[in-house]
Amino acid sequence: MRILLVEPSFPIPPKSKNHRDFLPVGLLKLASFHRERGDEIKLVRGNQQFPDFYPNQVKITSLFTYWSNYVWESAKFYKENYPKARVIVGGIYASLMPEHCKKSGCDEVFIGVDEKAEKFKPAYDLVNVDYQIVHTSRGCLRRCKFCGTWKIEPEFKYKKSIKDEIRSNRVIFYDNNLLANPYIKDILEELKNSKHNGRVVYSESQCGIDGRLLTPEVAKLIKEARFLNPRIAWDHRYDQRKMIKKQIDMLVEAGYPAKDIYVFMIYNYNQDYYEMLKKLRQCKRWGVQIADCRYRPLNQTFEHYNPRARQTNKDYYIHPEWTDRQIKLFRKKVRRQNITIRHGFDIYNYELEREGARIREKRLLSTQE
Ligand code: SF4
Repeated sequence: MRILLVEPSFPIPPKSKNHRDFLPVGLLKLASFHRERGDEIKLVRGNQQFPDFYPNQVKITSLFTYWSNYVWESAKFYKENYPKARVIVGGIYASLMPEHCKKSGCDEVFIGVDEKAEKFKPAYDLVNVDYQIVHTSRGCLRRCKFCGTWKIEPEFKYKKSIKDEIRSNRVIFYDNNLLANPYIKDILEELKNSKHNGRVVYSESQCGIDGRLLTPEVAKLIKEARFLNPRIAWDHRYDQRKMIKKQIDMLVEAGYPAKDIYVFMIYNYNQDYYEMLKKLRQCKRWGVQIADCRYRPLNQTFEHYNPRARQTNKDYYIHPEWTDRQIKLFRKKVRRQNITIRHGFDIYNYELEREGARIREKRLLSTQE
Protein backbone atom coordinates (compact mmCIF):
# COMPACT_ATOMS: atom_id res chain seq x y z
CA MET A 1 0.00 0.00 0.00
CA ARG A 2 1.08 3.57 -0.62
CA ILE A 3 0.03 5.91 2.17
CA LEU A 4 0.18 9.68 1.89
CA LEU A 5 0.17 11.44 5.27
CA VAL A 6 -0.93 15.07 5.05
CA GLU A 7 -0.68 17.99 7.41
CA PRO A 8 -2.88 20.73 5.85
CA SER A 9 -1.41 24.22 5.33
CA PHE A 10 -2.39 25.47 8.78
CA PRO A 11 -1.44 29.11 9.36
CA ILE A 12 1.51 28.26 11.60
CA PRO A 13 4.22 30.94 11.34
CA PRO A 14 7.17 29.53 9.34
CA LYS A 15 9.53 29.74 12.31
CA SER A 16 7.05 27.63 14.33
CA LYS A 17 7.06 24.71 11.88
CA ASN A 18 8.22 21.74 13.87
CA HIS A 19 7.60 23.87 16.94
CA ARG A 20 6.99 21.70 19.96
CA ASP A 21 3.30 22.70 20.04
CA PHE A 22 2.59 21.89 16.41
CA LEU A 23 4.36 18.65 15.60
CA PRO A 24 1.93 16.33 13.75
CA VAL A 25 2.75 13.54 16.16
CA GLY A 26 -0.33 11.47 15.17
CA LEU A 27 0.91 11.33 11.57
CA LEU A 28 4.40 10.38 12.72
CA LYS A 29 2.98 7.44 14.69
CA LEU A 30 0.91 6.41 11.67
CA ALA A 31 4.10 6.54 9.60
CA SER A 32 5.79 4.03 11.94
CA PHE A 33 2.69 1.85 11.99
CA HIS A 34 2.50 1.67 8.18
CA ARG A 35 6.24 1.11 7.80
CA GLU A 36 5.94 -1.88 10.13
CA ARG A 37 3.28 -3.29 7.80
CA GLY A 38 5.60 -2.83 4.83
CA ASP A 39 3.67 0.10 3.34
CA GLU A 40 5.35 2.88 1.44
CA ILE A 41 4.73 6.24 3.12
CA LYS A 42 5.16 9.89 2.29
CA LEU A 43 4.61 12.80 4.71
CA VAL A 44 3.72 16.22 3.27
CA ARG A 45 2.68 19.64 4.44
CA GLY A 46 -0.02 21.24 2.34
CA ASN A 47 -1.35 20.19 -1.03
CA GLN A 48 1.14 18.71 -3.48
CA GLN A 49 1.18 16.36 -6.45
CA PHE A 50 3.64 13.51 -6.95
CA PRO A 51 4.35 12.20 -10.45
CA ASP A 52 5.83 8.93 -9.13
CA PHE A 53 3.62 8.26 -6.09
CA TYR A 54 -0.08 7.47 -6.46
CA PRO A 55 -1.42 6.76 -2.95
CA ASN A 56 -3.96 4.09 -2.09
CA GLN A 57 -4.87 6.06 1.01
CA VAL A 58 -4.51 9.73 1.95
CA LYS A 59 -4.63 10.32 5.69
CA ILE A 60 -5.17 13.97 6.60
CA THR A 61 -4.76 15.26 10.14
CA SER A 62 -6.80 18.10 11.62
CA LEU A 63 -6.25 20.50 14.51
CA PHE A 64 -8.52 23.21 15.88
CA THR A 65 -12.10 23.34 14.59
CA TYR A 66 -11.58 27.01 13.61
CA TRP A 67 -8.92 25.84 11.12
CA SER A 68 -11.41 23.49 9.42
CA ASN A 69 -11.13 25.30 6.06
CA TYR A 70 -7.50 24.15 5.68
CA VAL A 71 -8.65 20.55 6.17
CA TRP A 72 -11.43 21.00 3.61
CA GLU A 73 -8.93 22.42 1.08
CA SER A 74 -6.68 19.37 1.51
CA ALA A 75 -9.56 16.87 1.32
CA LYS A 76 -10.81 18.52 -1.87
CA PHE A 77 -7.35 18.76 -3.41
CA TYR A 78 -6.40 15.12 -2.83
CA LYS A 79 -9.82 13.81 -3.80
CA GLU A 80 -9.58 15.70 -7.11
CA ASN A 81 -5.98 14.76 -7.86
CA TYR A 82 -6.12 11.14 -6.65
CA PRO A 83 -9.72 10.06 -7.24
CA LYS A 84 -8.89 6.38 -6.76
CA ALA A 85 -7.36 6.98 -3.32
CA ARG A 86 -9.39 6.70 -0.13
CA VAL A 87 -9.20 10.04 1.70
CA ILE A 88 -9.49 9.75 5.49
CA VAL A 89 -9.50 12.70 7.91
CA GLY A 90 -8.65 12.25 11.61
CA GLY A 91 -7.46 14.44 14.48
CA ILE A 92 -9.07 17.00 16.77
CA TYR A 93 -11.51 18.79 14.43
CA ALA A 94 -12.53 15.48 12.80
CA SER A 95 -13.26 13.97 16.22
CA LEU A 96 -15.15 16.97 17.58
CA MET A 97 -17.22 17.72 14.45
CA PRO A 98 -17.39 14.52 12.35
CA GLU A 99 -20.59 15.52 10.52
CA HIS A 100 -19.15 18.87 9.50
CA CYS A 101 -15.86 17.21 8.53
CA LYS A 102 -17.61 14.64 6.33
CA LYS A 103 -18.92 17.50 4.19
CA SER A 104 -15.32 18.27 3.18
CA GLY A 105 -15.69 15.56 0.52
CA CYS A 106 -13.46 13.03 2.26
CA ASP A 107 -14.37 9.32 2.16
CA GLU A 108 -14.09 8.69 5.88
CA VAL A 109 -13.78 10.53 9.17
CA PHE A 110 -11.69 8.85 11.84
CA ILE A 111 -12.85 9.71 15.37
CA GLY A 112 -10.64 9.59 18.47
CA VAL A 113 -7.18 8.07 18.96
CA ASP A 114 -5.98 5.34 16.58
CA GLU A 115 -5.13 2.68 19.15
CA LYS A 116 -3.13 0.59 16.65
CA ALA A 117 -0.86 3.49 15.70
CA GLU A 118 -0.72 4.76 19.30
CA LYS A 119 1.54 1.83 20.26
CA PHE A 120 4.24 3.02 17.83
CA LYS A 121 7.00 5.56 18.38
CA PRO A 122 6.72 8.66 16.17
CA ALA A 123 8.92 8.48 13.03
CA TYR A 124 11.16 11.43 13.93
CA ASP A 125 13.36 10.81 10.88
CA LEU A 126 10.60 12.45 8.81
CA VAL A 127 10.95 15.81 10.60
CA ASN A 128 13.87 17.88 11.75
CA VAL A 129 13.49 18.27 15.52
CA ASP A 130 15.81 18.18 18.52
CA TYR A 131 13.23 16.85 20.97
CA GLN A 132 10.78 14.00 21.40
CA ILE A 133 7.10 13.92 22.32
CA VAL A 134 5.87 11.62 25.08
CA HIS A 135 2.40 10.88 26.40
CA THR A 136 2.32 9.35 29.88
CA SER A 137 -1.47 9.50 29.78
CA ARG A 138 -4.46 10.06 27.52
CA GLY A 139 -7.69 11.80 28.47
CA CYS A 140 -8.28 13.66 31.71
CA LEU A 141 -9.99 13.13 35.05
CA ARG A 142 -11.75 16.48 34.81
CA ARG A 143 -14.51 17.79 32.57
CA CYS A 144 -13.81 21.50 31.99
CA LYS A 145 -16.52 22.96 29.75
CA PHE A 146 -14.17 24.77 27.37
CA CYS A 147 -11.96 21.72 26.74
CA GLY A 148 -12.39 19.03 24.09
CA THR A 149 -9.93 16.53 25.58
CA TRP A 150 -12.49 14.46 27.45
CA LYS A 151 -14.74 14.32 24.41
CA ILE A 152 -11.99 12.98 22.14
CA GLU A 153 -10.32 10.79 24.77
CA PRO A 154 -13.17 9.90 27.17
CA GLU A 155 -11.23 7.24 29.03
CA PHE A 156 -8.33 8.27 31.26
CA LYS A 157 -5.44 5.89 30.51
CA TYR A 158 -1.92 6.11 31.85
CA LYS A 159 1.52 4.48 31.81
CA LYS A 160 3.48 3.44 34.85
CA SER A 161 6.88 4.13 33.36
CA ILE A 162 8.43 5.93 30.39
CA LYS A 163 12.14 5.35 30.97
CA ASP A 164 12.49 2.99 28.02
CA GLU A 165 11.00 5.59 25.68
CA ILE A 166 13.63 8.30 26.26
CA ARG A 167 15.64 8.99 23.11
CA SER A 168 16.45 12.67 23.43
CA ASN A 169 17.83 15.21 25.90
CA ARG A 170 14.65 17.23 25.51
CA VAL A 171 11.29 15.61 26.23
CA ILE A 172 7.99 17.41 25.60
CA PHE A 173 4.99 15.93 27.36
CA TYR A 174 1.74 16.09 25.41
CA ASP A 175 -0.35 14.86 28.37
CA ASN A 176 -3.50 16.86 28.92
CA ASN A 177 -3.14 16.54 32.67
CA LEU A 178 0.31 15.23 33.49
CA LEU A 179 -0.07 15.29 37.27
CA ALA A 180 -3.27 13.20 37.12
CA ASN A 181 -1.18 10.14 36.26
CA PRO A 182 -1.19 8.10 39.52
CA TYR A 183 2.43 7.12 38.76
CA ILE A 184 3.64 10.67 38.24
CA LYS A 185 6.11 10.54 41.15
CA ASP A 186 7.76 7.40 39.73
CA ILE A 187 7.89 9.00 36.28
CA LEU A 188 9.46 12.20 37.65
CA GLU A 189 12.05 10.08 39.48
CA GLU A 190 12.83 8.32 36.19
CA LEU A 191 13.31 11.67 34.45
CA LYS A 192 15.51 12.93 37.26
CA ASN A 193 17.84 9.97 36.77
CA SER A 194 17.60 9.78 32.97
CA LYS A 195 20.49 10.40 30.62
CA HIS A 196 20.71 10.33 26.86
CA ASN A 197 24.11 10.23 25.14
CA GLY A 198 25.67 10.76 28.56
CA ARG A 199 23.81 14.01 29.19
CA VAL A 200 20.83 14.74 31.44
CA VAL A 201 17.30 15.15 30.11
CA TYR A 202 15.25 18.38 30.26
CA SER A 203 11.47 18.29 30.11
CA GLU A 204 8.56 20.58 29.30
CA SER A 205 4.82 20.15 29.45
CA GLN A 206 2.78 21.41 26.53
CA CYS A 207 -0.30 21.89 28.74
CA GLY A 208 -0.52 23.79 32.00
CA ILE A 209 -0.05 21.94 35.28
CA ASP A 210 -3.23 21.17 37.22
CA GLY A 211 -2.10 22.97 40.39
CA ARG A 212 -4.84 21.31 42.47
CA LEU A 213 -2.75 18.14 42.21
CA LEU A 214 0.48 19.86 43.18
CA THR A 215 2.10 19.09 46.55
CA PRO A 216 5.46 20.30 47.90
CA GLU A 217 6.88 16.82 47.20
CA VAL A 218 5.66 16.81 43.58
CA ALA A 219 6.88 20.39 43.04
CA LYS A 220 10.35 19.34 44.25
CA LEU A 221 10.32 16.33 41.94
CA ILE A 222 9.26 18.51 38.99
CA LYS A 223 12.26 20.73 39.62
CA GLU A 224 14.62 17.79 40.10
CA ALA A 225 13.28 16.27 36.87
CA ARG A 226 14.49 19.51 35.19
CA PHE A 227 11.11 20.73 33.91
CA LEU A 228 11.53 24.13 32.27
CA ASN A 229 9.07 27.00 32.78
CA PRO A 230 6.24 25.24 34.63
CA ARG A 231 2.80 26.64 33.81
CA ILE A 232 0.01 26.64 36.37
CA ALA A 233 -3.57 26.86 35.12
CA TRP A 234 -5.74 29.68 36.53
CA ASP A 235 -8.85 29.18 34.44
CA HIS A 236 -11.55 30.64 36.62
CA ARG A 237 -12.31 33.55 38.89
CA TYR A 238 -10.08 36.14 40.55
CA ASP A 239 -11.21 34.86 43.95
CA GLN A 240 -9.14 31.68 43.34
CA ARG A 241 -6.01 33.77 43.88
CA LYS A 242 -5.12 32.38 47.31
CA MET A 243 -5.11 28.85 45.91
CA ILE A 244 -3.00 29.92 42.91
CA LYS A 245 -0.55 31.73 45.19
CA LYS A 246 -0.05 28.55 47.23
CA GLN A 247 0.73 26.64 44.05
CA ILE A 248 3.25 29.26 42.93
CA ASP A 249 4.85 29.22 46.39
CA MET A 250 5.35 25.46 46.15
CA LEU A 251 7.23 25.89 42.87
CA VAL A 252 9.29 28.79 44.24
CA GLU A 253 10.08 26.72 47.33
CA ALA A 254 11.19 23.90 45.00
CA GLY A 255 13.73 26.27 43.41
CA TYR A 256 12.04 28.01 40.46
CA PRO A 257 12.58 31.79 40.21
CA ALA A 258 9.09 33.40 40.08
CA LYS A 259 9.81 34.92 36.65
CA ASP A 260 10.32 31.43 35.19
CA ILE A 261 6.85 30.34 36.30
CA TYR A 262 3.87 30.97 34.00
CA VAL A 263 0.22 31.25 34.91
CA PHE A 264 -1.89 29.82 32.14
CA MET A 265 -5.16 31.74 31.67
CA ILE A 266 -8.02 31.66 29.26
CA TYR A 267 -9.54 34.99 28.17
CA ASN A 268 -12.46 36.01 25.96
CA TYR A 269 -14.39 33.62 28.20
CA ASN A 270 -16.68 33.82 31.26
CA GLN A 271 -14.51 36.24 33.26
CA ASP A 272 -14.93 39.67 31.73
CA TYR A 273 -12.14 42.03 30.74
CA TYR A 274 -12.08 43.82 34.10
CA GLU A 275 -11.84 40.62 36.11
CA MET A 276 -9.06 39.42 33.80
CA LEU A 277 -7.22 42.71 34.39
CA LYS A 278 -7.31 41.99 38.12
CA LYS A 279 -5.78 38.56 37.46
CA LEU A 280 -3.16 40.18 35.26
CA ARG A 281 -2.18 42.70 37.95
CA GLN A 282 -2.07 39.98 40.56
CA CYS A 283 0.42 38.04 38.43
CA LYS A 284 2.53 41.18 38.19
CA ARG A 285 2.59 41.47 41.97
CA TRP A 286 3.67 37.84 42.21
CA GLY A 287 6.34 38.41 39.54
CA VAL A 288 5.20 35.50 37.35
CA GLN A 289 4.59 35.50 33.60
CA ILE A 290 1.30 34.74 31.85
CA ALA A 291 0.58 32.18 29.15
CA ASP A 292 -2.68 33.48 27.71
CA CYS A 293 -5.09 31.51 25.58
CA ARG A 294 -7.94 33.15 23.64
CA TYR A 295 -11.13 31.13 23.97
CA ARG A 296 -13.00 29.83 20.92
CA PRO A 297 -16.02 27.51 21.23
CA LEU A 298 -15.37 23.88 20.32
CA ASN A 299 -17.64 24.20 17.29
CA GLN A 300 -16.16 27.42 15.91
CA THR A 301 -15.32 26.65 12.28
CA PHE A 302 -13.56 29.84 11.17
CA GLU A 303 -10.99 32.36 12.38
CA HIS A 304 -9.77 35.52 10.64
CA TYR A 305 -8.33 37.27 13.68
CA ASN A 306 -6.14 40.24 12.83
CA PRO A 307 -4.50 42.02 15.76
CA ARG A 308 -4.09 45.22 13.73
CA ALA A 309 -7.67 45.62 12.46
CA ARG A 310 -11.05 46.43 13.95
CA GLN A 311 -13.12 43.29 13.71
CA THR A 312 -16.47 41.75 14.58
CA ASN A 313 -17.93 38.35 15.39
CA LYS A 314 -18.08 37.73 11.66
CA ASP A 315 -14.27 37.62 11.62
CA TYR A 316 -13.59 35.58 14.74
CA TYR A 317 -15.27 34.53 17.98
CA ILE A 318 -15.95 37.36 20.45
CA HIS A 319 -17.54 36.29 23.74
CA PRO A 320 -20.73 38.22 24.65
CA GLU A 321 -18.95 39.63 27.75
CA TRP A 322 -16.03 40.92 25.66
CA THR A 323 -15.41 43.37 22.81
CA ASP A 324 -12.92 43.22 19.96
CA ARG A 325 -11.04 46.16 21.49
CA GLN A 326 -10.81 44.53 24.92
CA ILE A 327 -9.53 41.26 23.45
CA LYS A 328 -6.74 43.03 21.58
CA LEU A 329 -5.92 45.30 24.51
CA PHE A 330 -5.73 42.38 26.91
CA ARG A 331 -3.34 40.49 24.59
CA LYS A 332 -1.15 43.59 24.33
CA LYS A 333 -1.09 44.10 28.09
CA VAL A 334 -0.11 40.46 28.67
CA ARG A 335 2.73 40.73 26.17
CA ARG A 336 4.07 43.93 27.71
CA GLN A 337 3.73 42.68 31.26
CA ASN A 338 5.59 39.48 30.40
CA ILE A 339 8.44 41.54 28.91
CA THR A 340 8.76 43.66 32.05
CA ILE A 341 8.80 40.56 34.27
CA ARG A 342 11.21 38.62 32.05
CA HIS A 343 13.71 41.49 31.94
CA GLY A 344 13.12 42.86 35.44
CA PHE A 345 11.90 46.29 34.17
CA ASP A 346 9.65 48.42 36.39
CA ILE A 347 7.44 49.48 33.51
CA TYR A 348 7.17 48.51 29.85
CA ASN A 349 9.41 50.49 27.53
CA TYR A 350 9.79 49.76 23.82
CA GLU A 351 13.45 50.84 23.75
CA LEU A 352 14.28 48.57 26.68
CA GLU A 353 12.51 45.70 24.93
CA ARG A 354 14.65 46.26 21.81
CA GLU A 355 17.77 46.49 23.99
CA GLY A 356 16.83 43.18 25.67
CA ALA A 357 16.40 41.57 22.24
CA ARG A 358 19.80 42.91 21.09
CA ILE A 359 21.52 41.51 24.19
CA ARG A 360 19.86 38.11 23.67
CA GLU A 361 20.90 38.05 20.02
CA LYS A 362 24.50 38.97 20.95
CA ARG A 363 24.60 36.19 23.54
CA LEU A 364 23.24 33.70 21.02
CA LEU A 365 25.86 34.70 18.43
CA SER A 366 28.67 34.44 20.96
CA THR A 367 27.56 30.89 21.94
CA GLN A 368 27.52 29.91 18.26
CA GLU A 369 31.07 31.17 17.62
S1 SF4 B 1 -8.03 19.82 33.45
FE1 SF4 B 1 -7.19 20.50 31.49
S2 SF4 B 1 -7.22 18.71 30.15
FE2 SF4 B 1 -8.56 18.27 31.88
S3 SF4 B 1 -10.60 18.81 31.16
FE3 SF4 B 1 -9.75 20.61 32.24
S4 SF4 B 1 -8.74 21.86 30.64
FE4 SF4 B 1 -9.14 19.78 29.79
